[in-house]
Amino acid sequence: MSVTLDLSRVARADAAPAAKPPVNLSGLTRAQLMDALVESGAAEHGKARMRATQVFRWMHHRGVTDFTLMTDVAKETRARLAEAFTIARPEVVERQVSQDGTRKWLIRMAPGIEVETVYIPSVGRSGALCVSSQVGCTLNCSFCHTGTQALVRNLTAAEIVAQVQIAKDDLLEWPSDKDDRLLSNIVFMGMGEPLYNLGSVADAIEIISDNEGIGISRRRITVSTSGVVPQLQALGEKTQAMLAISLHATNDALRDVLVPLNKKYPLEQLMAGIRAYPGISNARRVTFEYVMLKGVNDSPAEARALIKLIKGIPAKINLIPFNPWPGSDYQCSDWAAIEAFAAIVNKAGYSSPIRTPRGRDILAACGQLKSESEKVRASAMRKLSMAAMAGVLDDEDDEGV
Ligand code: SAH
Ligand code: SF4
Repeated sequence: MSVTLDLSRVARADAAPAAKPPVNLSGLTRAQLMDALVESGAAEHGKARMRATQVFRWMHHRGVTDFTLMTDVAKETRARLAEAFTIARPEVVERQVSQDGTRKWLIRMAPGIEVETVYIPSVGRSGALCVSSQVGCTLNCSFCHTGTQALVRNLTAAEIVAQVQIAKDDLLEWPSDKDDRLLSNIVFMGMGEPLYNLGSVADAIEIISDNEGIGISRRRITVSTSGVVPQLQALGEKTQAMLAISLHATNDALRDVLVPLNKKYPLEQLMAGIRAYPGISNARRVTFEYVMLKGVNDSPAEARALIKLIKGIPAKINLIPFNPWPGSDYQCSDWAAIEAFAAIVNKAGYSSPIRTPRGRDILAACGQLKSESEKVRASAMRKLSMAAMAGVLDDEDDEGV
């Protein structure tokens, strides 16, 4: 019997190693940018801070994607920067605009690495962007479509920031201090578990909130987690972002099924972690996300159990109508059940908006956007994010602008 080996994929020992793509400067905080400029020889030590701020402003205040446009940087320095680095955007593969103003971009970060980012107008202060932190997810919440998809990889800080830059390109939001900005809030409610990619998420938040650039206040940036308790403190300390918790159940037996991470970090630990979240106050309330699943978690008794569970925590509750997907085991609660649940929660003094998802027209079509299964799942995810996001940002106060 003869055996044929396919050696086409085996690297030859004498072949040159694959060239590493150049570092995208958009993913560096100003401090990291300073170091990168010094290391590359583009700035002397003494001038690094000033030079980094200049370059940072071009990227994040003006939104340029070409070093030659950095007119106050010496020509030789620009040439050196262009040799060592890039500031290009990833490719927008597909763009859709809904009749209600919702916009959606399918962005190709690298071959096979694609994410969707959605802008929703009239949410938060003026409009919110839902960004992804991973492609896929390692967790497997039983009601979530992304959970059925294996993790492809973490996104880099540059790839997270690029989602914001692309939205700003499309919304004509450069320079960043332009009046009447449409993009005021960011929510990490796209694909993935942000606390399993905290390094990149924290760097991205530092970049997005830097007043020399995009300048979106940390109070207008919300990170949603399924409850990675050991990372909560670090999230608060590193980012000062607003916290949203995907709760969905008020007892461990049910939460173990809906959010299996609960087996690792059960409710008692989760609630203790939330109570200790840095900076939590009436002006900086935690959002509890609660997906309404018919006959599973939507009874009046569960609404009362929810109030008991979160007692004493400055909180708002975001009731998310379940978004069914092909093959899912759950159904969305009836409106009457959602309203009854909301009434109990409201009576206890918590705001609990229920919102209909927006951008239905483009989201309905986006299942056909890509034939790859990943994309279909991503779009299912986007649909629900609409509802989730609307509630999280619903009654935002305007302090800390
Ligand atoms: N991984 C993070 C953030 C992304 S999920 C997290 O779990 O919090 C954003 C929100 O959408 C979460 O509250 C999630 O539980 C919810 N969600 C997921 N699938 C859903 C579905 N099919 N219908 C409604 N909400 C869903
Ligand atoms: Fe991952 Fe969040 Fe979906 Fe759970 S709900 S599988 S944590 S994306």
